[in-house]
Amino acid sequence: MVKKALNPLKIDFKKCIVEDCLLQIRNEKNLEEPELINVWTIQINAKDSKLLIDFIRSKILDEDGIFLNHIKRIRKVEGPKKMLEVVLCSTEFAQDEAACMSLLTNCGFNYQNLSCENLIPKQGAPTKELAIEWSELYWPLNWCGNPNDQILNEYTFDIDFIREKLAQITSISQEEAKKGNKVPVVTAFVNPCDAEHPIVSTDQRSEVNDLVLDHSIMIGIRKVAEDTKLKESQLTDSTIGTDSTYLCLNFDVYTTHEPCSMCSMALIHSRVKRCIFIRPMSKTGTLRADSGDGYCMHCNNSLNSKFEVFQWIGNDFAPIEIESNLCA
Ligand SMILES: [Zn+2]
Repeated sequence: MVKKALNPLKIDFKKCIVEDCLLQIRNEKNLEEPELINVWTIQINAKDSKLLIDFIRSKILDEDGIFLNHIKRIRKVEGPKKMLEVVLCSTEFAQDEAACMSLLTNCGFNYQNLSCENLIPKQGAPTKELAIEWSELYWPLNWCGNPNDQILNEYTFDIDFIREKLAQITSISQEEAKKGNKVPVVTAFVNPCDAEHPIVSTDQRSEVNDLVLDHSIMIGIRKVAEDTKLKESQLTDSTIGTDSTYLCLNFDVYTTHEPCSMCSMALIHSRVKRCIFIRPMSKTGTLRADSGDGYCMHCNNSLNSKFEVFQWIGNDFAPIEIESNLCA
């Protein structure tokens, strides 16, 4: 993890802009409402706290997929006895009481008062004021700065590569328009294991053949599927297949126009890592908070998966504009 001050990339943490050209797209409207998760808690005598905290440090912290560094592990319980309530782990890490219990008994603890009733914010608050508010409402939090600063700081970007891909799809979009394609939306799917061979797709909708669902992203996902099938059929040893059930796991997707709801959902289902688009679609887009109905599909807490989204805000690329009512 690079310290913010040592990051070679120029990042405006306030405006969420990387290298003056990539704007992080988030659901600004939702930032004041935390996403809540359940955790296992236990009540203990104050004198036992050191042992239990040592146990959490050595057996749970590195294993629990949900990072809880933004919360205080211990809070006082109201009452005459000196009791403390301790957060053991997320309910994702120990999915039921038996699993949580065996974790404790295996390490010699004998507590009977486990609870999974407490809801805590999954991430730290974006401002100190909200951290205080959430601490009173849910569970005491630590204030360690806006968590999005750290998220942005840890992302990696190959700006030259990104420029190259955006230039490529822009020029294909212009060619498509010249050829008479009324929806010159173009997308490149980049497999992190084979970045030199992106799969490029164009929109295939046309009045003649009535292919209304053939948006460039849908076509691209289909091409990735065909490509994966072909590669698997070429393998002589059937044991060396892709072990992923997700088609575009960790892919980066570059697209000329902000995707519609169908395409955004398809990107979620195929588990892409990042989408970078150029032209926002204020009526039909589903990623920007001010596009369409403001779904921010890629970071919607009601969906079980998310992906990173950036909009290229430099003036360098000008893919052909499409009618504002059209879905990209
Ligand atoms: Zn679409």
